[in-house]
Amino acid sequence: MEVKKVLSDLKRRFPNEPEYHQAVEEVLTTIEEEYNKHPEFDRYNLIERLCIPDRIFSFRVTWVDDKGQVQTNTGYRIQHNNAIGPYKGGIRFHSSVNQSILKFLAFEQTFKNSLTTLPMGGGKGGADFTPRGKSDMEVMRFCQAFVTELWRHIGPETDVPAGDIGVGGREVGYMFGMYKKLAREHTGTFTGKGLEFGGSLIRPEATGYGNVYFLLEMLKTKNIDIKGKVVAISGSGNVAQYTAEKLISLGAKVITMSDSNGYIYDPDGIDAEKLAYIFELKNVQRGRIKEYAEKYGCKYVEGARPWNEKCDIAMPSATQNEIDGDDARALLKNGCFAVSEGANMPSTPEAIAEFLNAKILYAPGKAANAGGVSVSGLEMTQNSIKLGWSKEEVDEKLKNIMKDIHNQCIRYGKQEDGYVNYVKGANVAGFMKVAKAMMAQGIL
Ligand code: NDP
Repeated sequence: MEVKKVLSDLKRRFPNEPEYHQAVEEVLTTIEEEYNKHPEFDRYNLIERLCIPDRIFSFRVTWVDDKGQVQTNTGYRIQHNNAIGPYKGGIRFHSSVNQSILKFLAFEQTFKNSLTTLPMGGGKGGADFTPRGKSDMEVMRFCQAFVTELWRHIGPETDVPAGDIGVGGREVGYMFGMYKKLAREHTGTFTGKGLEFGGSLIRPEATGYGNVYFLLEMLKTKNIDIKGKVVAISGSGNVAQYTAEKLISLGAKVITMSDSNGYIYDPDGIDAEKLAYIFELKNVQRGRIKEYAEKYGCKYVEGARPWNEKCDIAMPSATQNEIDGDDARALLKNGCFAVSEGANMPSTPEAIAEFLNAKILYAPGKAANAGGVSVSGLEMTQNSIKLGWSKEEVDEKLKNIMKDIHNQCIRYGKQEDGYVNYVKGANVAGFMKVAKAMMAQGIL
């Protein structure tokens, strides 16, 4: 494989998809050496078959808003690769959603799911619809219209969607309800469901908690204690909230959170009581993070990201490309020694290069945020065996999976000087399993 050639071919065939190109380039440059040790991969043109999704569905979603106006959006489902299990990956509802973003997410998901040790392929879906500012009834009508198209393509052994940006328990509930009505069966086709109808304990917490568990594994390699460490978090949604919760319970000091309008900086640290307010503000009132600064009298910075604030650890948990080269340099200059990604691809290639050059502990989202899909996998298992596990059981399994992912990163990412390149480790480990499965299954 010649990475340059593969990339230029993909760019020619699929122009105007910068996020997809970015994700593919990051993976290919790190797996090149390992890939080329296996000439049989090239003979079967494995790389193109791995980079190009198995199939893409795109459809119009028509719904009626509260004023009686007819609205249309574009919905998608990308079924990227099912070599090791049914397609699995979240649904994103956000105005920025397009095919490029979902292709990058589905591609990343394939390697992430492979790392989890569970039998799940990779997929992703969504629509250019933002639930923020919509009434409950509008969100419900949108979800129902979306699933009216999607339901034909998914199923418990085919493709199992979940949440992502803009899709939480409320949206999964509405989508699952419509799916159940159309398919006329109650199966585990969605994960992130409510506890009363097949959801798993710890699923809402899983991505944030899992990221902290991964961080703890990284810190352990350097004998660093999390207690008292200052942490900057971006985002204030599902992943950010539970990352903060776990960190606070372990004695770390969380100083920032954000939303798409700006960030708050609380030098005293967000404690359990203040975090309870954020849960209420974001999940019930659906308000803005600015209101936290008004309530607690701390700094709010409009239209900016939190990476200029001094911290020991950064945990980006909002969206892609939210840490650029300048942000990375600012973090390093201020003494940040660990970055563990809750979001998918939050660091630009320039930022990643800065972190790796500085040899800090840097965990890419594919490894660090895999806890969410892992517990989704555990939800699928519980649905299959028609049993529910206790909170403690699921949490224990999550911890073990994060530990296992960390070990896989070390196995493939440890350099001669002892530095662990977690990007390479995660990509090679995730890739090898999918590649072997694809080779065994013939040319498809
Ligand atoms: P939520 O919708 O619950 O929260 C997203 C947060 O990020 C909100 O605070 C939102 O602000 C902010 N945000 C969204 N888009 C932007 C943007 N363009 N610029 C700045 N801020 C933005 O989503 P999740 O917490 O579920 O997801 C966050 C990240 O974690 C995503 O990258 C997702 O792919 C990733 N992830 C999520 C998993 C899960 O289990 N949920 C699993 C693995 C990864 P606002 O309120 O203003 O929209």
